Amino acid sequence: MATCAYCNTTILFGGKRQDGMRFCNAKCAERGRLSSIGSQLPSADVLHFVRQVHQGNCPRCSGEGPVDVYKSYRVWSALFLTSWSSHQIVCCRSCGTKKTLLDTLYSTALGWWGVPWGVVMTPVQIVRNIKALIQRPNPKVPTAELERMVRLHMASSIAKAHKNSS
Ligand SMILES: [Zn+2]
Ligand SMILES: [Zn+2]
Repeated sequence: MATCAYCNTTILFGGKRQDGMRFCNAKCAERGRLSSIGSQLPSADVLHFVRQVHQGNCPRCSGEGPVDVYKSYRVWSALFLTSWSSHQIVCCRSCGTKKTLLDTLYSTALGWWGVPWGVVMTPVQIVRNIKALIQRPNPKVPTAELERMVRLHMASSIAKAHKNSS
């Protein structure tokens, strides 16, 4: 079965074709295009920018860094409907911890009330949050995820500049 070239989700039907690859939807196709531009950027430029972001102030609270990518997971349910999501946030350690703790509380309060996925996904998301709290990024070195986010960000500003000039 086909999988999305960007996020690896199985494509059941439909999807979008671009450059000989398949994507879930236009959003993934766009991100896929940006990440392929991003992966071609020279490492020296990217690392310079990664270090700047890592040592800079937190984009959420403007407090002191180091800034890195923090993960958090949430889920909510209403009877037969359950919705879950993963988030990657570029911020400082204390904002990251706060966000993950809040999402854990949110999921604990609102996750369970759906059949069957609420009951299944709530413990999954809570365990993922606990793991995210334990395996926090090393403050001394930027993570590979931060580099990936920076590459995407640089690629999207290059794509924007390109669009404006043409
Ligand atoms: Zn996708
Ligand atoms: Zn912060």
